[in-house]
Amino acid sequence: MALSFLDYRIRQRDYLLSIAQALVSRLNVRAVLRLILQAAVDMLQGQSGLIALHNEGAPFAFWASYGLPPALVDAFQPLVEDVPVVEKVEDFTIPDLSDKLARIAEETGLLLRQVVALPMFVEQDFLGVLFIFRSHSLSFSQDDYQILKSFADYAAIAVNNAQLYEAAITERGRLDALLESSADGIMVLRPDLSIERLNRALASLTGWSAQEAAGRQHDEVIVWARQSSDITLSQAIAQGWPTRESRTLYVEGEMRRRNGSVVSVGITYAPLLGRNGRMINIISTVRDITRFREADVLKDTFISVVSHELKTPVAIIKGYAETLRRPEARRNPALVEEMLTSITEEADRLARLVDDLLDASRLQAGGLPFRDIEDVDLRFIARRVIERYTPQSARHTLILDFAEDPSGEFPTIRGDPQRLEQVLDNLVSNAIKYSPRGGEVRIKGKATPVEVIISVSDQGVGIPLEDQERIFDRFYRVENPETRAVSGTGLGLYLTRAIVRAHGGRCWVDSIPGQGATFYVALPRETGLVLWQGEATSPIVPEMIQQSSSDQRLPD
Ligand code: ADP
Repeated sequence: MALSFLDYRIRQRDYLLSIAQALVSRLNVRAVLRLILQAAVDMLQGQSGLIALHNEGAPFAFWASYGLPPALVDAFQPLVEDVPVVEKVEDFTIPDLSDKLARIAEETGLLLRQVVALPMFVEQDFLGVLFIFRSHSLSFSQDDYQILKSFADYAAIAVNNAQLYEAAITERGRLDALLESSADGIMVLRPDLSIERLNRALASLTGWSAQEAAGRQHDEVIVWARQSSDITLSQAIAQGWPTRESRTLYVEGEMRRRNGSVVSVGITYAPLLGRNGRMINIISTVRDITRFREADVLKDTFISVVSHELKTPVAIIKGYAETLRRPEARRNPALVEEMLTSITEEADRLARLVDDLLDASRLQAGGLPFRDIEDVDLRFIARRVIERYTPQSARHTLILDFAEDPSGEFPTIRGDPQRLEQVLDNLVSNAIKYSPRGGEVRIKGKATPVEVIISVSDQGVGIPLEDQERIFDRFYRVENPETRAVSGTGLGLYLTRAIVRAHGGRCWVDSIPGQGATFYVALPRETGLVLWQGEATSPIVPEMIQQSSSDQRLPD
């Protein structure tokens, strides 16, 4: 039954209304397109229809069909094979459309007599084509075109919305991936300084999970233990930040983590402003600058240690040299001899200091040079060190205590004898230096089937437990009133551990503060060789030196 014009208009209005509702609801784009297609087919008194979308670079694909058996939809592909991509509705035509339809009808056995095709545009973007088919021969009028155009417009809006939505989701995914994979901590703040989000790196830096931090105030999560910059974020905002001159704000200092520990950080705050200049967000990047801080401290320590350690011998050498120039001093041969001995000793000390500094810097660069690799008898080296130090201190008793095998032998190991002597020399010199009241200094040697273990023990000031690992760090010295006047650079044990590790060995300390310390060096009887093979000037394998885990202890 034919519809009256009024009925027809009402029906069209109802359809457009329900399509408009579908557009604003979160229906997926295929469902909305089908609804539009169904309405268009009905309003144009057709029997079936198709919507084909055009994706940039890809051929047209059918996204919605109505009144057609799904299995036959692919047969309509010729309709969209050479659709021109145009910029205006008026330019749109599909060549031989009726012929193509006739062929499809023949192929599929469907009753398809008339077709109308209308392009879908959003502004100048050509998104696709809407087809309506009739099984009767009444051709489409100009009015039909007009009606169809309103449906095509809606379909175009639906597709455009879906594309925008998808682009927004992709963009958000990209942003999430960027935020979460960043090694720097990132925090997005609202204008009231509450936290909108916080990435994984910042969660682990602060100890606040993203969920726990969300909604909290910036100052609850970023707590300054000590601030090096003279302004905080809140203070800057109170003073009118951001300004045209200073868009970003940098704040540095020590941040207190949730667990109470402290970490050095630098935070850059950058405002995200809307078109009207109003603040939308503040993006904060938080960087752990502990390493820079440590490097700074190390540099300062280096300068103060080196200048202090250089000054003393230079002053002594200069003083004696000046005295020796005086004629009256030359008249006393014993005094001359004593002064020359001191000058030689101080010059040796300077040379040792320079050697240690060079070794430390080579180690930093990745390798220590070594000289000859031989079978080394550590008992022999230990005896030589004891002989060297015995005359230097009357207060100390130096004892050699090597557990030899029944034939009176002690196993040799493969290594660099000079470097190994440097190790024992340093341990014995420390044992004497850090037992200012004197006592026994014992070098013990014993062999296990796999290792040779040398220990140097003293009855001196000892080392507090918390310092026992750190004394092997560069420039690290323990603060102890009893040994404050003892000179040193804090490089000896650092080099000792590096040399021992380069031989494939381990070293560690045992100490009861106030009662003395025992340093152990364990060197492999076989495997050390592996590391030390090669050219005489090869560097020590860097990985061995870089190992930072503390060496394992062995029972004595
Ligand atoms: P240095 O002796 O030049 O300071 P080392 O690296 O040899 O440097 O030693 C680092 C620190 O370890 C020393 O400053 C000292 O505080 C501590 N130390 C080393 N050996 C002993 C020891 N035998 N007894 C007590 N403290 C020691």
